[in-house]
Amino acid sequence: MAKKQFKAESKRLLEMMINSIYTHREVFLRELISNASDAIDKIYYRALTDDNLSFDKDSYFIKVIPDKENRTLKIIDTGIGMTKEELETNLGTIAKSGSLAFKKETEIKDGYDIIGQFGVGFYAAFMVADVVTVISKPLGSEEAYKWESDGAEGYSIETAEKDSVGTEIILKIKENTEDENYDEFIEEYRLKSIIKKYSDFIRYPIKMDVSSRRPKEGSDNEFEDYVEEQVINSMVPIWKKNKSELTDEDYANFYAEKRYGFDKPIKHIHISVDGTIRYNAILYIPEKTPYDFYSKEFEKGLELYSNGVLIMDKCADLLPDHFSFVKGMVDSEDLSLNISREMLQHDRQLKLISKNINKKIKSELQSLINNDREKYEEFYKSFGRQLKYGVYSEFGANKEVLQDLIMFYSSKEKKLVTLDEYVSRMPEEQKYIYYASGDSIERIDKLPQAEFVSEKGYEILYFTEDIDEFAIKMLMTYKEKEFKSISSGDLGIEGEDNKDDSETEVNESKEIFDYMKNILADKVKDVRISKRLKSHPVCLATEGDISIEMEKILAAMPDNQNIKADKVLEINKNHEVFESLKEAFKNDKEKLELYTKLLYNQALLIEGLPIQDPVEFTNDICKIMV
Ligand code: ADP
Repeated sequence: MAKKQFKAESKRLLEMMINSIYTHREVFLRELISNASDAIDKIYYRALTDDNLSFDKDSYFIKVIPDKENRTLKIIDTGIGMTKEELETNLGTIAKSGSLAFKKETEIKDGYDIIGQFGVGFYAAFMVADVVTVISKPLGSEEAYKWESDGAEGYSIETAEKDSVGTEIILKIKENTEDENYDEFIEEYRLKSIIKKYSDFIRYPIKMDVSSRRPKEGSDNEFEDYVEEQVINSMVPIWKKNKSELTDEDYANFYAEKRYGFDKPIKHIHISVDGTIRYNAILYIPEKTPYDFYSKEFEKGLELYSNGVLIMDKCADLLPDHFSFVKGMVDSEDLSLNISREMLQHDRQLKLISKNINKKIKSELQSLINNDREKYEEFYKSFGRQLKYGVYSEFGANKEVLQDLIMFYSSKEKKLVTLDEYVSRMPEEQKYIYYASGDSIERIDKLPQAEFVSEKGYEILYFTEDIDEFAIKMLMTYKEKEFKSISSGDLGIEGEDNKDDSETEVNESKEIFDYMKNILADKVKDVRISKRLKSHPVCLATEGDISIEMEKILAAMPDNQNIKADKVLEINKNHEVFESLKEAFKNDKEKLELYTKLLYNQALLIEGLPIQDPVEFTNDICKIMV
């Protein structure tokens, strides 16, 4: 029979997976058992909502059968099964998202990280097996099919015999090699411990025939071998257990088993509420951003259970967008099993649960800030942007919740600080929360505009992400302190006015600046003496709502409306350059024109803005050299 090829991308992914170095090869079993459990969930849920189906709890189980003679490992489930089409689409295509783009973004130093994240859990079987056979009979059908693959070469599908509904997966376990021992995956003892470790909380019995030895009846010194079917897992769902019984490792295992993510969560939150509304929830704050987190494809949500039965994979209504990184599940006895997606949105109970858990998430994050700063910073690296988006979106509706959770790099502390920390350190006379925007910390460090504010001893927050200024514009104030860009018109610093400027001096410079403004025409709104420069000759400041960083961001947007910041060219009157300008104004207007253009272009460069005519700029520099 002709073999069907895997989709090209699948093939590459498969090779990548098989050939990467797996530190935890044993997880293949967890993946297969999770699939089996999901399949039973589906049939269980179907039975609960369909009167024509009855669900006899005892006839639903997973069975693991090692066979040393044939070197196979079977995993049997009595779940919903797969049709021929489902076998093709579910197992014939890996990485259903259809993109290998993640390959660049995800570290594959340890293939463990990628399994499951792309719906490839099943393929983990190829880590330990040369050939994988899947025989499945779907609910409501008399036909069964056999899918078989040796990994690289593709797969085949043919009709098969199977009595009962469900799926049987047969792994032909690889031969040992010099470095690798695969025997362990047909050892009862070893399998038992893998199941205990990763799948203890699976709600259905995971059975295995375990051989033992016992004294022969009626004899004192004779023994006999016997085989006994044991249930290996404890089956109590973790969320129904007492917090005190559970260890960090239990929570970490549940996270992995549920494939919430392939990182180590930074924190777990276990909630048990037994009041007017009853529910249990286990939530996780992940450490790493999922590869698709900041893309359209990402779906937020928590698993929703009704008294132990999974009714929805990703209930989006439980999480606001700004907490969309939270993973986990909610189980409530008070939710109806038959509830539809549409009804859920309006469900009062669900709204209450959502409100409660969001409060809890906020307070847990807050306590991380206060008590485990390192972890919070780790988290913030991955998801800080999402929090800042949260401040900005919905017209700032959530800013109260989020303002205490956002952080920015501080000029003084040289690390991320919260707004609260900033404000609590402000000297009494400091009116504003100062910030500076730029592409990177290094660049902002060098901004001439920062000189005066820094010299005053004031702390400056560095905005290096697109969203920062927009978020702050939405926030407007924090603890009644307004935000102020160090490039904005009025810095609000006392004593910044030049007290000792004589009237003639002011008039004189005004004439020069008017002249310069004419040369630059509508490129700048004004040319002025700077109140923020100390040692640098020149900088750009802005007036109005649009900053230079915002201009850059808007220019990069697809529907670029050519919105410009109102720029002001500021000159340091204490710099020798100012003397040269005066001189040129008096004696050589052509020179003044040259100087003006040079200074303006320099100011653009400092801001990271493009120079309109770089060739002219270099020519101008040459002119002053010769
Ligand atoms: P994931 O489980 O992450 O979606 P997998 O590659 O493990 O990715 O499985 C792909 C799909 O194949 C599953 O979503 C499920 O629909 C189906 N599947 C896998 N194993 C079984 C099984 N034992 N019974 C029924 N369906 C299964």
